[in-house]
Amino acid sequence: MLQAIIFDYDGTISKTMERQYKWFQYWWNHEINKEKVKGRDFPYKNFKSFMEMFNEKINHVDWVQNVYNFLGLSSDLKDLNHPVWVNYRNFCLEHPSNLYPGIKQAIKEIWEMGRLSKNPDFNTSLRLGINTNSSWEVVYNDLQKYNLLKYFDSFVTEETLHKFYGEGDFNAIRKPSNISLALAMGFLGSEGAFTLHVGDTLSDLIASKNIIRLNSGHPENLISVGVTWGYESAVEGKERARSVLEGGIEVSGQKRIYFDYVIDNPLELVEIVKKYMKE
Ligand SMILES: [Mg+2]
Repeated sequence: MLQAIIFDYDGTISKTMERQYKWFQYWWNHEINKEKVKGRDFPYKNFKSFMEMFNEKINHVDWVQNVYNFLGLSSDLKDLNHPVWVNYRNFCLEHPSNLYPGIKQAIKEIWEMGRLSKNPDFNTSLRLGINTNSSWEVVYNDLQKYNLLKYFDSFVTEETLHKFYGEGDFNAIRKPSNISLALAMGFLGSEGAFTLHVGDTLSDLIASKNIIRLNSGHPENLISVGVTWGYESAVEGKERARSVLEGGIEVSGQKRIYFDYVIDNPLELVEIVKKYMKE
């Protein structure tokens, strides 16, 4: 019986990449970057061209910092006192991100399906969690706006991950990682084989596999669902996203891995959950 569903946030529930585009335009024109941009216009005239650059640059060890560096904008993500942090936070709070069409209905239907029923073997409700690098303050604000907060039981966010230092760096653990999912399952009280993980990138898939918690001899694998409406489709559309997600990925030391499901519409998730609720 299914115990929990862990949702990625950016690109799965929320169209946060559109906010990223607006944010980088805003930060480009901010007083703090005046000397750096020297009166030049923001170089990306449309969302698609911005995403092409963004997706390429973010795929780097420095992650979003690499985007700031490439654009020549002020940022030091390793310093929580750098003005980029408070400005980004305020910008996000003032600009709640839009949801993907159908996602609210899907979450609501899944939540309703997961309440206690006549079935005596189903004695714990289905739990829903969020796993994201974004801050809870921002995600909370978005979820409040759409009246979605009540459907979730737990979260792993930037604040949670910043509690885990690696070599003195609070950014050492980023979602999606096996560790963020291990934490999420701990908070939700679920086991890998009975947990669905829903995400929009191949990194989400990698994070779903070989999760070690208490016994390194028994790594856990989540039931993975790839969605085609997120980051992968931002540049070349859903069809291209489907072929990327269906193609799976080669992971060092493992066989090529694949999503258990790839879906094009949030309501397909309701059907997948229905199937696992019966098992
Ligand atoms: Mg995502």
